[in-house]
Amino acid sequence: MQRDALVAALSQRLGERGLLREPDDMTRYVADWAGDRLGMPLAVARPASTEEVIATVRLCRDHGVPMVPQGGHSGLVAGALPAADGGELVISLERMNRIRAIDPISFTMAVDAGCILESVKQAAAEHECEFPLALGAQGSCQIGGNIATNAGGLNVLRYGMMRQLVLGLEVVLPDGRLWDGMTALHKDNRGYALKQLFLGSEGTLGIVTGAVLKLTPRATQTRTALLGLDSLEAVIELYGLARCDCSDLLSAFELIPRRCIELAMEATSTLSDPMDHSYPWYVLLEVSASGPLDLGAMLEHLLEQGMERGLVLDGALAASEVQSRQLWQFRESMLEGQRRRGEHLRTDISVPISAIPAFVEEASRSVMEASPECEIIAYGHVGDGNLHFNVLPPPAMPEAEKRAHLHALEERLFEVLDGFVGSISAEHGIGRTKQSAYLARLSPVERELAEGIKALFDPDGLMNPGRILPPRG
Ligand SMILES: Cc1cc2nc3c(=O)[nH]c(=O)nc-3n(C[C@H](O)[C@H](O)[C@H](O)COP(=O)(O)OP(=O)(O)OC[C@H]3O[C@@H](n4cnc5c(N)ncnc54)[C@H](O)[C@@H]3O)c2cc1C
Repeated sequence: MQRDALVAALSQRLGERGLLREPDDMTRYVADWAGDRLGMPLAVARPASTEEVIATVRLCRDHGVPMVPQGGHSGLVAGALPAADGGELVISLERMNRIRAIDPISFTMAVDAGCILESVKQAAAEHECEFPLALGAQGSCQIGGNIATNAGGLNVLRYGMMRQLVLGLEVVLPDGRLWDGMTALHKDNRGYALKQLFLGSEGTLGIVTGAVLKLTPRATQTRTALLGLDSLEAVIELYGLARCDCSDLLSAFELIPRRCIELAMEATSTLSDPMDHSYPWYVLLEVSASGPLDLGAMLEHLLEQGMERGLVLDGALAASEVQSRQLWQFRESMLEGQRRRGEHLRTDISVPISAIPAFVEEASRSVMEASPECEIIAYGHVGDGNLHFNVLPPPAMPEAEKRAHLHALEERLFEVLDGFVGSISAEHGIGRTKQSAYLARLSPVERELAEGIKALFDPDGLMNPGRILPPRG
């Protein structure tokens, strides 16, 4: 009864474009990038303004119906997927996609939360500025989703994660009140940093409707190189050298194993082997700047140093933007290559940067001991200590056995990670997928504080329930 009454009230308030109820219309909102799905929602609300979000949330609260804020559904921990019981209302921000204001002197930009990351980057570029967040899903993920997951990406080592890139926020709280924190201040030390609570909260504390973003000067020159190395120890030593040698202008330092180069070539037929010989490890490195600096000389000096020390064995330097894009294609296509392999273990862990070689060795030993036929693919953002230590199950394994097998391997991996005091989630968040591993590692004090925050913001437990923390029973 309550559900029918809610749908009728929403239909009246949001109109035909603002509410989808037919299963065919809702299919787009029930699966994420990886193809995971749980169930159908009660309906999909598509508010076009902050006022409509407020009205939607108030109606949900009045009718006791749980809500799922949804961005570009590129999240990878099932946080934005409607529950299997069919009782949740999806609230999609996709119609709230306005650039509200750009101030190129203050290097700030105010946007609706439903803006797609790519369009925000384009709008900044039109004003000779840059919004530096860059990730594989930027053509579909939304700023609200980036905020809710505290997204990082390829340039974190230079610009930080969303926590460092957001100056102000506008949030509709679970009871329908509006928190207007849309300040464009670079320095603001008044009391508790409320906005930081919403960054990384995965839609469990409120719906982000707007944000003020921090911009940087637009890079006018970029140099990209793909380098071949023979050990992880050499990769880490080269990273230390690059940080010191490149005047802090290093904007990407990506680790790619040989297997990923092969997967990329399988996925994109136009890619060919980047060097005459193959190497166990590759580094995709980028430096960028906006002033009159000789980046070419800087990169050449780094490579000379790397070769003299025996760290870099070979390299391909991009001589143009087109060539740079080709090198980046290896990084992008390898994800598609993995996806084509079907179900596999995906992780987004982190360890201290200097511990990466020891961690990969120990974790590989532990995983291979339990599953000698599996294939490990470890790649990631070295400068953030963030690895995707992924595992493809044995090719001959029956489909029905894969999930449990991969879960057991994940537990082994996380045990090794605990020994390195690492994080089980450096990127994608907790959602539903990582919940039990997260809870198992929370101290009693941390759990009490986390539950207290949730109860303070959402006493009725209606905002994205069951994500991060279990639903209140
Ligand atoms: C190919 C690929 C590459 C990726 N690379 C990276 C990477 O390099 N670094 C990285 O950090 N992540 C990466 N991700 C995952 C990343 O978390 C998401 O891409 C992105 O930040 C999520 O945005 P979204 O709009 O798709 O959110 P969704 O998937 O729709 O939602 C994600 C979570 O945010 C909540 N949410 C969404 N919008 C709002 C809102 N307006 N208010 C409140 N809560 C909201 C949802 O309820 C859900 O819990 C990658 C994903 C893919 C598919």
